[in-house]
Amino acid sequence: MDSSDYHIVKSSSGSSTPHEDNINVVVRVRPLNNKEIKSKDESVIQFPGNGQILCEGHSDMQKAKLFSYNVVFEPGASQEDILNYSGIKRLIEMAIEGFNATVFCYGQTGSGKTHTLTGPPDLFVGKADISHPGHGLVFRSFFYLFQLLQQRQENTQFILKASFLEIYNEKVIDLLNPGAARKKPLAVRWSKKLRGFYVENLFLVDCEELDDLLAVLEEGMRNRSVGSHLMNDHSSRSHTILTVHITSEQQAENEKSVFISKQGKINFVDLAGSEMTKKTHSEGKTLEEANNINKSLMVLGYCIASLSDTRKKNGHIPYRDSQLTKLLADSLAGNGVTLMIACISPAKSNVSETINTLRYAARAKRIKTKPLIIIDPREALILSLKREVNSLKLENEHL
Ligand code: ADP
Ligand code: MG
Repeated sequence: MDSSDYHIVKSSSGSSTPHEDNINVVVRVRPLNNKEIKSKDESVIQFPGNGQILCEGHSDMQKAKLFSYNVVFEPGASQEDILNYSGIKRLIEMAIEGFNATVFCYGQTGSGKTHTLTGPPDLFVGKADISHPGHGLVFRSFFYLFQLLQQRQENTQFILKASFLEIYNEKVIDLLNPGAARKKPLAVRWSKKLRGFYVENLFLVDCEELDDLLAVLEEGMRNRSVGSHLMNDHSSRSHTILTVHITSEQQAENEKSVFISKQGKINFVDLAGSEMTKKTHSEGKTLEEANNINKSLMVLGYCIASLSDTRKKNGHIPYRDSQLTKLLADSLAGNGVTLMIACISPAKSNVSETINTLRYAARAKRIKTKPLIIIDPREALILSLKREVNSLKLENEHL
C-alpha cells in the first residue's frame, strides 16, 4: 500500500504524541488478510477522524458504535508510524527519568499484537537487517533509547539490564533460560525494598550496548517460538514481558560528592489472545487449565475496571490475584505510565471480538493515575560513600 493511501487519526487535542494522561490508549487496525479477501469478508471499521472509530454492530439490527481514543492507526500505518505517533517515545523518555513505563498490546489472536511489538519472526533469523520496515516497536524503541542515552551520557551514567519472561498457565518461565525454568517455574515475590513484586532468579542481562539488548530480544523470541511448537495454541495463551531496567546516576548540581540514583524501567507486554477469557469457561479443559488459562487476562480486566471506575475511589484493586497483574502493578497502580495498544481486525467475521476489544480499550482510557519517580535516597547516599572510598583509595595509590 502506498503511504498516501492512509493517514493516522490523531486525538482531538491535535497532538500526534499524546501526553495528557498517564494511560494512553491507541488502536491499530490491521489490514484484511488474504484469506479474508478471498472469502469476501469485508471491513466493518470506519475512521471518522479525531481519534475515533466507528464499528458496525454484530447484526443489521444493531447500530454502529462510535469509540474514541488518543490515536487510531489505520491499516496502512507502518511500524515506524507506531514508534512516532503512539506516544511510546515519551514512555522511553520517562523510563530514563526514573518512572515505570509499560506498553501492552491487547486483542484477539491474529489481530497483530506480536506483529506490532516484534514484527515477523523471520527477521530474527541470522543477522538482523536494521533498516527492514517490518521491525516492530521493541526493536525501534531500543534504537530510540540508545539515541537518548548517548545524548545524555555527558553528565549521567546509565546502567541497563534486561529480562524476558513468559507467563503460561500462571507459571513464570524465563525466556533467557527456558530449560531450567520449565522444570521449575520461577516464583513471584514481594520485595519490601523495591515496594513491588519481582521474579526470583530471573536472568537480568547487563546491556552495555544496543547489540546486547537486541540479543536479548532475539534469544527470547527464539525460545518463545520453541515453546509454541511444543504446544498447540501456545502463543495465544501466553503473555510475554520484556523489561529494560534503567538505572541512572547523576552528580547533584551543587553537591559534587552526592550522586542521585534513579531507577526506571519499561515493560513491553505481548498479551495472550483476548478471546482466551471466554475459552477459560469452555468445556473439555482440566480444572487447573480452566482456572489458569487466562486468570492473568481476567484479573487484568478486573484491575482496569476497578481503576477506571471513578465512583470507587479508594476501592480494592485485585493486583495480587494473578502473576501478570502482580508484575504490572507498579505501572498500573499509579506510579507509572502506560500505553495500551489495542489491536483489532477490520473483518466482519471478527466483529464481536473487535467490539469487545474496543470496549475494553475505552474503559482503560478512563483510568487516571499520577506517576512518581523512583529515587532511592539510601542508595544515593551509599553510592556517594562508595565513590568517596574509591577516590580515597586512588589518592592513596598515587601518594
Ligand atoms: P497476534 O499476535 O495478535 O495473534 P500476529 O501479530 O501474529 O497476531 O498477526 C497475525 C498475522 O497478521 C501475522 O501473519 C502478521 O504478520 C499479520 N499482521 C498483523 N498485523 C499486521 C499489519 N499491521 N500489517 C501487516 N500484517 C499484519
Ligand atoms: Mg501473538
